[in-house]
Amino acid sequence: MKMEELKPGEIDKILEHAPICYIPWGSLEWHGVQNPIGLDTLKAHQLCLMAAEKTGGVVHPPVYCGYNTMKPHAGFKKTLEMNKETVQVLAQDTFEQLYDEGFRIIFVLMGHYGGEHMKALREAGFLFQEKHKDAKILLFSDAEIAADKGIVGDHAAGYETSLMMYFSPQLVDIKLLPKDRPITIKEDGIGGPVDPRKSTIEEGRRIAEIVVEGMVARVKQLIGG
Ligand SMILES: [Zn+2]
Repeated sequence: MKMEELKPGEIDKILEHAPICYIPWGSLEWHGVQNPIGLDTLKAHQLCLMAAEKTGGVVHPPVYCGYNTMKPHAGFKKTLEMNKETVQVLAQDTFEQLYDEGFRIIFVLMGHYGGEHMKALREAGFLFQEKHKDAKILLFSDAEIAADKGIVGDHAAGYETSLMMYFSPQLVDIKLLPKDRPITIKEDGIGGPVDPRKSTIEEGRRIAEIVVEGMVARVKQLIGG
């Protein structure tokens, strides 16, 4: 399902049955001392692979290109802040090329939630949709997809840290978090309703299953109608 690992004939077969391409789109961004900086993208990639297993289609290589990150927002390093134009040009080229290759359902899973970043991607998606009426493009963050199931996304707190622990426990070390004070955005670059020190693999699995269920439902709606 990983697009970069497929041979031409394998892609032809997939296009015949399910011309779907998932694009995990995130950033390289500070996610607390306990998490890897690629969290947004690593998380989105794994969720896309889980969804593609259920719907068919391919998963585009993860895109590490985030705008409106923690660097300008809160002054955190270990972050690559890209330009809005870079994000949009890369998105437009990628969407157009996937269309040219025969994909007709494009699902962009936005692992990075910067409001302006998501807006930039949605603008690119809107232009694509206007141009290609015989294709469908979906753009959602993982948190948006789980929202109607009572799950609240965050930045590097209990939600994202649990997901990361589920996908790659060896990449997370919650012992690195301070033990004797509240965790804050200002001091720790972490924000959300659930304390990251309460993160568990089980919670990550629960969230992942809910998000993937939501992704699959949205794609099946398109295939069905
Ligand atoms: Zn994140």
